[in-house]
Amino acid sequence: MPVFETKALFDAISYTASAVKTLKSIDDRVKLNEAIYSVQESLLSAQQMALDSQQEMTAIVEAKGALEKEIASLRTFEAEKARYAMHETEAGGITYLVKEDARNGEPSHHICAACYQKSVKSVLQLKGLNLFCGQCGSSSEYHPRSGGFIV
Ligand SMILES: [Zn+2]
Repeated sequence: MPVFETKALFDAISYTASAVKTLKSIDDRVKLNEAIYSVQESLLSAQQMALDSQQEMTAIVEAKGALEKEIASLRTFEAEKARYAMHETEAGGITYLVKEDARNGEPSHHICAACYQKSVKSVLQLKGLNLFCGQCGSSSEYHPRSGGFIV
């Protein structure tokens, strides 16, 4: 619920509370019924505003959780970026290749340059004569060395 609607909710509650206090002093039956109806309408309006506020708060909490998760993912990728260096394949394709001293027991591999720019790590897979990204669908040309190792 935007802040201006929060004020409307408090105004409706305040109006209802003061209207209830005046009910005892109304002697005329018709006027009393009108006042009771007005109070009921005000209560229903306040109830709807409270429900809208609750739904908005739930959406905000969910959005906050998603943003926290995204921030954690970006921080993880920032640390991961240091393990890779931009690489041009023999065919002129651009990838990011894991540095020899940062392989941590992993085989030599390339990650997608397009995904890298979006802070997403996507290991490229050999598909025909290209390195293919399963994340974004892009491919980079390469030529295998004599031993079949991807450069
Ligand atoms: Zn990609």
